[in-house]
Amino acid sequence: MDSPVARSGAPTRRRLLGTIAAGAGSMALARYSLRARAGASAALIEPICKPAWGAQPPKGEFVTHRIERLTVHHSAVILHRNRDAPGEFRSHQAYHQSRGWPDIAYHMLIDRRGNVYRGRPSSARGDTGTTYDPTGHYLVLCEGNFSEQPISKAQVRALVDVLAWASGRFDVPPRRIHGHRDFAATACPGTDLYRLIDSGVIERRVGDKLATGGVKKKELCGRAGRRRVAAIESGNA
Ligand SMILES: [Zn+2]
Repeated sequence: MDSPVARSGAPTRRRLLGTIAAGAGSMALARYSLRARAGASAALIEPICKPAWGAQPPKGEFVTHRIERLTVHHSAVILHRNRDAPGEFRSHQAYHQSRGWPDIAYHMLIDRRGNVYRGRPSSARGDTGTTYDPTGHYLVLCEGNFSEQPISKAQVRALVDVLAWASGRFDVPPRRIHGHRDFAATACPGTDLYRLIDSGVIERRVGDKLATGGVKKKELCGRAGRRRVAAIESGNA
């Protein structure tokens, strides 16, 4: 089935539209690029490489997969000070590896100020403590608990950019963006963030990005990455 599993109640308008709008991902992307304006320039994401944010090397083997959808998560941990975000990511990774997973469960991580960090390799299937099969899901984590705190505008902007980059990179149409709770019994990605996904706001903004030049990626590795993390951890980025 193309549509995500709706656990209860009537399907939302967005899910119905998603089901009706069947077709290859490349066709859907072509529709967006037809709307592209001449002279539009690509936005840029600058994910911080894993050694720069203090990630440990993977433990054990990854299972490879082919990305077919983009799925948004929150950490369910209230983030009071953004300077603590890199430390939170290090502790998520340590916890996930302690569960026997090879790496942090997610592919891309975003803090409250919109800094982006690399997670496990895109080619590696994610992991989950819930009951869905993450094969084919590109997993994007927004640090915070969005049932307890609002998501910041900077974090939403970065999320849209990451999703638009992934949509272009993996040829996944924006209608295949969902929240974790669309697939499993969980509050993830929290009320405030899920509202933006379920109402189609994120899908529309990702579509607009693709129509105005898309999003490129340039990684911050080595000194540049360490400098960015030092700035984040001193409250200056
Ligand atoms: Zn989740």
